[in-house]
Amino acid sequence: MTTNIVESINSVLRFARMLPVVHLIDEITNLLVCWFRQRGELAMKSHSTLCPDLGEIKLRKRLDAASRMNVVKINEVEYNVLDGDLNGLVHLQNRSCTCRKFDLEQLPCKHAIAVCRHLKLNPYSFASSYYTRATWAAAYAESIYPVPPEATWVIPENLKKVKILPPLCKVMPGRRKTQRIPSKGEKSRQKKCSRCGVKGHYRST
Ligand SMILES: [Zn+2]
Repeated sequence: MTTNIVESINSVLRFARMLPVVHLIDEITNLLVCWFRQRGELAMKSHSTLCPDLGEIKLRKRLDAASRMNVVKINEVEYNVLDGDLNGLVHLQNRSCTCRKFDLEQLPCKHAIAVCRHLKLNPYSFASSYYTRATWAAAYAESIYPVPPEATWVIPENLKKVKILPPLCKVMPGRRKTQRIPSKGEKSRQKKCSRCGVKGHYRST
C-alpha cells in the first residue's frame, strides 16, 4: 500500500528521472495526457449519479442497511435512528449524525439515509458535490497539449535576457536511489539471498 503521493509519482517516474530535464517534462506531460484521457473517458461512460469507486458503491451499501432501521422523530429537524447497535441522532439540515460519518465524509451515513427514506427525500441530494459524476468528469475535462518546438516559441524580449541558473544544492556522493522510500507503517520489501533464495540475509553474510 502506498500512503505517500509523492513517493507514488517518484515510483512512476523512476526511469524517466534519469533523462535530461526537457525529456523528463515531456514524459510527465505524456503521462498526464494519458491519465486525463483514461479518467475522462471513464467519467463520460459512467451512468451513476456519484463517482462509482468513491460515493456510489458506499451509498448503495448504506441504502440496503438503512432499509432495516426505524426512525423516531424528535423535533422538526432531528431524528433518532434505531439500528440495533449504536443508533444515530441525525440533524438533516446540518448534515450531521452522532456516528460522525455524515459530518466527516459529507456523504449520508446509513442513519441519514434511513431518515431520507422516512421523509421520502432523495439521499443523493445530501451528498457533497465532490462525489458527483459531473465533478469527476469536470476534473478531467481540460485538454493537455504538447509543448511546441522551441523554434516556434514567442519569447518576450525582457525574458530573453534572464539567465536561469540551476538550483543551489549539494550533490551527495554515491549512486542516486531509484527505489522509493517506504512510508511509516509500510513494510519494506526484503531482498532475498542470491544463493539460497531465503529472505533476511545476503550471500556474503
Ligand atoms: Zn450516522
